[in-house]
Amino acid sequence: MRIKPHIKRTYFTFIILLFIITINLYLRSDNISTKVIDLQTSTLENKLVVHYLDIGQADCILIQEPKGSTVLIDAGNKLDSKYIQGYLLNLGITKIDVLIATHPHADHIGSMDDIIYAFEIGKIYSPNVDHNTTAYRDFIDAVDKKNYKITYASAGDHFSFNDANFQFISPNQNEYDDLNFFSLVTKLDYGNVSFLFMGDAEGKVLNEILNSNYNLRSDVIKIGHHGGVVSAPINFIKAVDPTIAVITVRPKSYSYPHFSVLSTLKENAIETYLTKGQGTIVITSDGEIIDVFRSSYKNTDSKSLDQ
Ligand SMILES: [Zn+2]
Repeated sequence: MRIKPHIKRTYFTFIILLFIITINLYLRSDNISTKVIDLQTSTLENKLVVHYLDIGQADCILIQEPKGSTVLIDAGNKLDSKYIQGYLLNLGITKIDVLIATHPHADHIGSMDDIIYAFEIGKIYSPNVDHNTTAYRDFIDAVDKKNYKITYASAGDHFSFNDANFQFISPNQNEYDDLNFFSLVTKLDYGNVSFLFMGDAEGKVLNEILNSNYNLRSDVIKIGHHGGVVSAPINFIKAVDPTIAVITVRPKSYSYPHFSVLSTLKENAIETYLTKGQGTIVITSDGEIIDVFRSSYKNTDSKSLDQ
């Protein structure tokens, strides 16, 4: 049988393309956005903007609601203070409307005191648990010195700014034997788009969340506990059904994220972005379409990044 040359050519091109795609999928465990965003010159009118700050193996996530309200989830380690403050000031932010301390570990509240001293804070949420560390005491001292109050939150509590609705879906209990389990997990709904911020929630807490009746479906998930081995079980990932995952890790980490987490995400065709190597990740949405960028405002402090 003779095959027409142009069909042959098309077939050949198809095979080559399939080969390239397969090799790419096999080799790449994470995605890197090719789009770099300069937030000082970009117009993001009517867009929700979520920034996952590149501060090594620690969390600090800034959410800008389209009408200008700001929410900060966690504030990294002590050594991340300079980059976090610079990042906020670069955006012209002087007030944080809601500050969320997901749980009292130093990689989440380490710079909280500096942030509280340097910015006007509207409301502070944390889970009802304390911790006998300098980082936690400094956080509480800063709250006291500025005459602020902490609102202890748990699953079911919520707040909103215009069309951006925030709900805590964990913790669902008052007592745990691991501080990570106390993590305030926040779901943000804006238009038809949802974001899930897991703090360091992992393990049995994910089953509790699954057994609660919250709608977990989210387009973007910040994986819990820096992608640790029990941070993304398949049943949880299936329930959330994200298209994008973000993991906060430092460049020289060998055990985080765990390879099994990356392969679960890959097998489910979830675009996975790690802060390591590509810097602060910025995700924007008009409530329908989601765009992923790398921030041009880079963290160059190796002490902050390596921690
Ligand atoms: Zn952590």
